[in-house]
Amino acid sequence: MITKKDLAELIFPDVNETIEDLEKRYPERNLENGAFVTRFAPSPTGFLHTGSLFTAMIASKCAKDTNGIFYLRLEDTDTKREIEGSANKLVEQLHEFNIDINEGFLGDSFKGIYGPYVQSERKNIYRTVIKDMILKDLAYPDFASEEELQKLREEQTARKEITGYYGKYALYRGLSDEEAYNRIKNGDPYVIRFKSKGNHENKIKVKDEIRGELLLTENDQDIVILKSDGLPTYHFAHVCDDHFMRTNLVTRGEEWLPSLPIHIDIFRSLGFKPPKYAHLPVIMKMDEGKRRKLSKRKDSEASVDYFLEKGYEPYSLLVYLMTIANSNYEDFLVSQKDYSLDHFKFSLKKMSLDGALFDNEKLNFYAKEILSRMNKEEIAKKSYEWAKKYDQNLVNFIEKDYSKYEEILNIEREKKNPRKDYAKYSDIYEVIKFFDNDEYLKLLNNGFEFNPSIDKNVIKDFLNEYKNYIDLTLDESTWYNKIKECAAKFNFCIDMKAYKADPSGYVGSINDACEIVRIVVTGRKVTPNLFAILKILTKEEVIRRIDLVISRL
Ligand code: GLU
Repeated sequence: MITKKDLAELIFPDVNETIEDLEKRYPERNLENGAFVTRFAPSPTGFLHTGSLFTAMIASKCAKDTNGIFYLRLEDTDTKREIEGSANKLVEQLHEFNIDINEGFLGDSFKGIYGPYVQSERKNIYRTVIKDMILKDLAYPDFASEEELQKLREEQTARKEITGYYGKYALYRGLSDEEAYNRIKNGDPYVIRFKSKGNHENKIKVKDEIRGELLLTENDQDIVILKSDGLPTYHFAHVCDDHFMRTNLVTRGEEWLPSLPIHIDIFRSLGFKPPKYAHLPVIMKMDEGKRRKLSKRKDSEASVDYFLEKGYEPYSLLVYLMTIANSNYEDFLVSQKDYSLDHFKFSLKKMSLDGALFDNEKLNFYAKEILSRMNKEEIAKKSYEWAKKYDQNLVNFIEKDYSKYEEILNIEREKKNPRKDYAKYSDIYEVIKFFDNDEYLKLLNNGFEFNPSIDKNVIKDFLNEYKNYIDLTLDESTWYNKIKECAAKFNFCIDMKAYKADPSGYVGSINDACEIVRIVVTGRKVTPNLFAILKILTKEEVIRRIDLVISRL
């Protein structure tokens, strides 16, 4: 008589190990009490999505806060959707965000003793477990053809029954070992299915670390665990991996919540202790007054590359994502004046479920804060590194005079309330390009716009005279007094109160006079501190620019 053992041997003749061997090979981890072993388990189907970065950040934070382990496992069993090169790129991108991978797949290498960390290299592990499952009547070969499955679905739909492969609808569940054996010998194609003992009329209690206790419908689907290509399905593979990699907290997107009963069913059937679960909210976006998921196709901010290309300091995106993860992080930022993610005690329980709304303005707010807190050396260095990849104009500018670049970035920086001109490195060049003489000339050729209510001749005369008043060796207030002195000669009112009370008796105010100088040297009405700009430009260059403008007035 054909036994389960014969069947298992026929399917897996080369598998000599048992689950017990695997248990020994991948021992329980020796970590302190309460330490979380978490993972990021991307599929190499594209580049890092903002939602995945969010998930990775939280998994890493949970591990870091508890002196645990955060590892990366590559889930590459869906070969059809795989995009070449994306696995290594994912690791690189995480690296750019300074998310430390303690263990696992690192691109061209790996770290740790719980590997392999790539699912396609773990076939033997899955096969060992499945062989054992066949012996224990927890799995069986299924020969259903596409047509049979299609017919089944139609029948179930017509009867208004739950669709799928379960109970009485599981066509090959009751096949004798002998029949199955013979069909396989005969070369019939098959997959391996899990043999669920569940019943969808029952409910199971499961705790989610964010949502609390949930009452979910028990699984009774005999899901496919090994496909005909010899690769396992996600549902099955990740259960084995999370078990043998000794994961004790699974943080993943809430799109996996509906299949949680399947996973619990497999864990329990195998006698494995399920990990804790935290299903994270999906990041949404407001679109024409409605919330919708951030979409890879429609939203550039759905891809992490977008932020890197734009030159957001990677850390600022993490800070922003943490504010949507735990709303009390914002209070922490305000009260502690500390932007370190490491000092903040993140809590899954405080995770907002409906607050994960992506807001570019808020990101920019934090991004500006973070850039404004860097010293000139740091922002110069980081923006230069960024520019080398993404902005040749800025590179050319920087390489002409690096220390001048630092001084420009330093304008109104080292003070209590530093200026916040830049949210991202790609904002820099536009703001500072007038410092460059060639760029300045281009701006001038496009024409400068002065206040039309001030006579051109007055502007000319004032500028001509102002050349004699420029002394950039003075301190700022003495320099300002000198500009006042000069402006007063041309009937600009230097007392703002008096000017406001009766502007009619004047050409303009001291602010108008300063605006003229500002436009002359920068082409703009709004710029950082004028005195600082003039100092960096040097008196000689300021006079040259004044003469250039006068010649065109
Ligand atoms: N490979 C799955 C995904 O990319 C991972 C889900 C999980 O973290 O368990 O969505």
